[in-house]
Amino acid sequence: MSRKYDLHTHSTASDGTLTPPELIALAAAKGVDVLALTDHDTLAGLAAARMAADAAGLILSPGVEISVTWGGRTIHIIGLGIDPRNQALCAGLAGLSAYRRRRAEAIGQRLAKEGIEGAFEGARAFSNGRLIGRTHFARFLVQRGYASDEREVFKHYLVKGKPGHVAGDWASLEAAVGWIRGAGGQAVIAHPGRYHFTRAKLLRLIGEFRVLGGVGIEVVSGSHTRDECLLFARYAQENRLLASVGSDFHGPGNPWTELGGMAPLPSFCTPIWADWEEQRLPRAVFE
Ligand code: AMP
Ligand code: MN
Ligand code: MN
Ligand code: MN
Repeated sequence: MSRKYDLHTHSTASDGTLTPPELIALAAAKGVDVLALTDHDTLAGLAAARMAADAAGLILSPGVEISVTWGGRTIHIIGLGIDPRNQALCAGLAGLSAYRRRRAEAIGQRLAKEGIEGAFEGARAFSNGRLIGRTHFARFLVQRGYASDEREVFKHYLVKGKPGHVAGDWASLEAAVGWIRGAGGQAVIAHPGRYHFTRAKLLRLIGEFRVLGGVGIEVVSGSHTRDECLLFARYAQENRLLASVGSDFHGPGNPWTELGGMAPLPSFCTPIWADWEEQRLPRAVFE
């Protein structure tokens, strides 16, 4: 039987709009069999997701999406099948959460210089006291009428060269892959199409990532076009990386990513879940 996998999703533990149980319920309704919850730099949603998934009969892979500074840019590395109790991983993510708080204060100060008052407090209210990110600023600025939607806010306020931009100072690639591997997980390069790297730079990333023990790359992603899916499928094949599939779902009403709604992997790819039945998922589920 072929299962439906969605291995990149967000909840209210980071910048998603559904709580972990709401996300699990929607995934089950959409026919997803195996879901990874991969919130940005936090494992805070995993316990509630686990309970809801067990009740719904859905297979949950505990995950995370780690913010990394590499080659002068921010990239994202997904960890799948991690042990949420692993201390080094938890300590590393706690450091990133603390940095997020400092960065959010700096973003607030920069926006204040542009005459936008109260953005830090507003973003924090949207984050509900949990992990804070640029998406929470985007929601606040839309609410205040500075832009019509979150995409517009990013374009005009939150990216490089714009008033609310603060350059990221995230984990090193070595640290992120090390935390994931140390917690028993598989490290995956998230949405490579989003970085607009040259071929040479992407190959350099893949080379360093593999040396560190990274094993996968997202081939099918909510932020990839069909052509990009095929392109990254070839990168996976040529560089002996396992292929992952994830919507990068952040909530309903987002026009470009639907939970569990992705195209299948090209048949020449080796899926990241190829060995999961023996190693990473509860045995009983497969018997
Ligand atoms: P952060 O990790 O706080 O820098 O925020 C990154 C998050 O912002 C991503 O995971 C997306 O959820 C969101 N994001 C980034 N770029 C855009 C964009 N152009 N439009 C809408 N959301 C975006
Ligand atoms: Mn996000
Ligand atoms: Mn991402
Ligand atoms: Mn994501």
